[in-house]
Amino acid sequence: MRRREILDRIEKYVQPFRITKGDDFKLAGFDPGDTRGLRLDKGEARDLLQQGTEWLAEEQEMLYAENRWSLLLVFQAMDAAGKDGTIKHVMSGINPQGCQVVSFKQPSSEDLEHDFLWRYSKRLPERGRIGIFNRSYYEEVLVVRVHEDILKRQNLPAQLVNKNIWQERLSDIAHFEDYLTRQGTIVLKFFLHLSRKEQKKRFMERLDKPDKHWKFSPADVQERAFWDDYMHAFEEAIRATASERAPWYVVPADNKWFTRLVVAAAIVQAVEELNLSFPTIDAEKKKQLQTARAELGREK
Ligand code: ATP
Ligand code: MG
Repeated sequence: MRRREILDRIEKYVQPFRITKGDDFKLAGFDPGDTRGLRLDKGEARDLLQQGTEWLAEEQEMLYAENRWSLLLVFQAMDAAGKDGTIKHVMSGINPQGCQVVSFKQPSSEDLEHDFLWRYSKRLPERGRIGIFNRSYYEEVLVVRVHEDILKRQNLPAQLVNKNIWQERLSDIAHFEDYLTRQGTIVLKFFLHLSRKEQKKRFMERLDKPDKHWKFSPADVQERAFWDDYMHAFEEAIRATASERAPWYVVPADNKWFTRLVVAAAIVQAVEELNLSFPTIDAEKKKQLQTARAELGREK
């Protein structure tokens, strides 16, 4: 299938979920079970995902060779929404040298001695690389917003902790992302949008299967009590930070195969827009290659 054709086909699985302007954004308009009428048994999803990941692998070679742009993929979600599996599937086939996954957990005491973006900026992708943030600076306006005792541990001067703090942080994040994009980092943000009901089902499955027990943490179940607070925090975050330059994708997450398809498609689309190519070489370099060939040819 021609590339143009694939791009046309994937647009309908990306466009409905891409948020580039947050003003009117409401999470309620998005159904976690949405599959755009697509059914896995058609084979189309698998087929598209496969093509998407192969394509991405090729684009990544060029990204690496050009060494100009970098790609930052931010993944945020409630537990069991499928961040890990999505990252694994979408990045399969990518040269590991050009790609780095960073998982952000609770901050260390050293992290807490710094401004809130410090630990994240240290792990940004270099030029030519794909950086994946499995959780990110958005935790600073999600879990920290939902549990204000975490904010207390951040040692901020008391005058700076007031009712504006979340809007201020969101504004700082939006500016930070503007800055990154002006430096040649493409920033794509994925919210894997899981329903509360599906989360319960997945937790139950983890409890039923011994090989999944390691993934289960009783604290995850306690967090369910704060579901509405989290959804509010996500909504506010998306409102304040969705932009053309650094879009959000609200990806339906109740069907894993569909989540993966949408994420892969969104990345392919964004990278394709860069019109990457392998660097060409100048006359001088061509001559050097000819000399090298001749030298190798003379070897006994
Ligand atoms: P897994 O799929 O393995 O459960 P995970 O990303 O949920 O992956 P955990 O170790 O279970 O990893 O959880 C990390 C925890 O760290 C989350 O509860 C998250 O909210 C918390 N966390 C991440 N960033 C921050 C932060 N900046 N401040 C406080 N807590 C944070
Ligand atoms: Mg967890």
